Amino acid sequence: SFAAMAQEKLLVGVDTAFVPFEFKQGDKYVGFDIDLWDAIAKKMNVSYELRPMDFGGLIPGLQSRNLDVAMAGITITDARKQVVDFSQGYYDADLLIAVKSGDNSITKFSDLAGKKVGLKQGTAAASFMKSKYKANYVEFPNIDNAYLDLQAGNLDAVVHDSPNVLYYVKTAGGGKVKSTGETDSVLPQQYGFAMQKNSSLTPKVDAAIQALRADGTYGKIYFKWFNKQP
Ligand code: GLN
Repeated sequence: SFAAMAQEKLLVGVDTAFVPFEFKQGDKYVGFDIDLWDAIAKKMNVSYELRPMDFGGLIPGLQSRNLDVAMAGITITDARKQVVDFSQGYYDADLLIAVKSGDNSITKFSDLAGKKVGLKQGTAAASFMKSKYKANYVEFPNIDNAYLDLQAGNLDAVVHDSPNVLYYVKTAGGGKVKSTGETDSVLPQQYGFAMQKNSSLTPKVDAAIQALRADGTYGKIYFKWFNKQP
């Protein structure tokens, strides 16, 4: 009862833009999730096809059984656990703020009051920020467009997952944006691969992640993308 049974390939939904977990480089998708999933699939001896889409399409795609797996640095939450399965957590994150390099008016989350702040539609970060901090929020399907609007001066800040902000700042940000808010831990969270509710894949994916942790593959992939040990 996998979505892809006819093709004998798992259909794996992937966010189009979430550096450094999944992003397009030339004509292919690369990133931590892409490498980790590929290693998991090899351990499980399954083939798969990537289906890139906006973040908001992933969980509905699992619910409608059009996807077998979704990856997007998806935050494991109790609400999402009601509708999909999650693998064990494979990455710890929090939130951070991106501001223009010359801006010293925002150093913590409470400084966002009254500011124009970019968020990514449908994410844990967006629902958390809207419920906890009053600001003038603008939501984007693709967070890269929020970062560009920040650089263009159309936003005062962007709030998103900490590894994404840090990686963007040191790569595409090109010195024009910096991260801040490091002293606040506002939304500690773990990422998991999502599967259909009660999927027979879930225990297999967990066993593969365990095996990849034990044989050092997980550590190698982590080092490749984050330049440190897990
Ligand atoms: N961690 C975020 C969430 O699950 C998604 C991150 C992303 O932009 N792909 O809501």
